Amino acid sequence: MQKNFTQLENFGHSLSAPSYLIKPTTTDEISEAFSIAKKLELTITARGAGRSYNDAALVGGGIVLDMCGMNAITEWDPSIGLITAQPGTTLEQVWQKVVADGWWPPVVSGTMTTTLGGCLAANIHGKNNYKMGPIGEHVVEFTALLPTGAEITCSPQRNGDLFYAMISGLGMLGIFTSVTMQMKRIHSGLLSVDAFPVRNLHEHLTSLLDGAPNYNYIVGWLDGTARGKSLGRGQIHATRYLNEGEDPNPQETMKVSNQVLPPRIFGVFPKSLLHYFMSPFMNNLGAWGINTAKYIASLRKHTFRQSHAAFHFLLDYVPNWEYSYGRGGLIQYQSFLPKETAEDAWQEMLQLSHRNGLPTYLGVTKRHRPDKFLLTHAVDGFSLAMDFKVIDKRRAELGVMLQEFDKIVIQAGGRFYFAKNSETTAETAQKFYGEETIAKFKKLKKRCDPKGLLESDLYRRIFE
Ligand SMILES: Cc1cc2nc3c(=O)[nH]c(=O)nc-3n(C[C@H](O)[C@H](O)[C@H](O)COP(=O)(O)OP(=O)(O)OC[C@H]3O[C@@H](n4cnc5c(N)ncnc54)[C@H](O)[C@@H]3O)c2cc1C
Repeated sequence: MQKNFTQLENFGHSLSAPSYLIKPTTTDEISEAFSIAKKLELTITARGAGRSYNDAALVGGGIVLDMCGMNAITEWDPSIGLITAQPGTTLEQVWQKVVADGWWPPVVSGTMTTTLGGCLAANIHGKNNYKMGPIGEHVVEFTALLPTGAEITCSPQRNGDLFYAMISGLGMLGIFTSVTMQMKRIHSGLLSVDAFPVRNLHEHLTSLLDGAPNYNYIVGWLDGTARGKSLGRGQIHATRYLNEGEDPNPQETMKVSNQVLPPRIFGVFPKSLLHYFMSPFMNNLGAWGINTAKYIASLRKHTFRQSHAAFHFLLDYVPNWEYSYGRGGLIQYQSFLPKETAEDAWQEMLQLSHRNGLPTYLGVTKRHRPDKFLLTHAVDGFSLAMDFKVIDKRRAELGVMLQEFDKIVIQAGGRFYFAKNSETTAETAQKFYGEETIAKFKKLKKRCDPKGLLESDLYRRIFE
């Protein structure tokens, strides 16, 4: 078992914390890490691929369990689409295992680098959340090691309370050791995408709402630099699976080699260098230029076919793109609002960002529906994710603005997702989770982790 002391960062490179890093490769080694933590009176948190934008996988002065060493796919049954894998297995490994057999993960994040353990702990959503729910709804069973030493198996029928609390539980009740999931049948390696522009926030949200039932996935890009009558303009990508027979050669399009993203742009320029060329544009003027050019380019309504990987993992096209934000990194702020209040609340937030001279450089919208998980972030409405550049001398101002956003969201009956926001306080969390939910979670925490061994910086921020 590897151990060392290191400074770890969040995905956006806007936070960091010194920790002891332990890389277990077996459940026994996780158990050993719990013993070390108890002996040294340290707290402990699991880390998957470290793709959370906030402090979910950091614990200052504690032990971080790097789960990436436990990444074997232990069972795959292509006749029924059931996969079992260790928690450090990435979504990339999963889709590459199943796609050629005509299956695809039912829910994926916007990057394929995330691990199953991280995806369950956050209960990730995809661009199909309004239809397929979060990833937890496709988990048939998982096993986990609790800090008490108990190894448990959970499914909706067995230990149901822990099933619905550990999925979404931010890694604070136990460590996932194995996950069994149902994949989704596909009949082609391609998707059919309708791309069309939306001129303002009202049209944007109406298109998501009206379009969603007719498609398998829907997602919007929002130009966070547009103002006035164009506030909230952008482009919608509404996407559907191909039916059996629509793709003349599905065996070919479902090959992994026809899904993977090319390593070079135009066959020449290495994508890994692209972020250096993006850096000079990461300021208000550059972001306005890029967003405006993108909007103009999106004015042509068109339909095209795209591989599953290219559609879902657009952000992976530019490896290390987050470095283009410079030394201070970025903060992603994602709010979830009911469909009745979203437009007014986001109008207020976008206008506030312009008044402060702190526009979002990238905005992404999605359609959602509620789910049964204890720490759910979803609503019957929409989400808007906004990326903000962190400039050292304006960091405090940005923090104050995001606190203002929190107030607007709470007032509008919204929720937050703790794979993202890094400024939200315990008081705000209590308001949207509600006292009953927090009490239920804390009761389970006492049962699974009576000595409070599992603790992340996020947990300290929102629960203590
Ligand atoms: C470019 C990008 C796009 C994204 N797109 C989306 C999206 O579309 N939808 C979405 O929902 N999210 C999205 N995310 C967020 C991401 O999916 C979540 O933050 C996810 O939790 C990251 O997984 P990870 O393996 O990196 O986990 P980490 O960030 O390392 O950890 C996340 C949480 O999981 C816990 N954890 C990790 N492993 C275990 C384990 N074995 N047992 C118990 N707890 C564990 C950690 O303690 C922590 O609380 C995106 C992130 C990025 C960087």
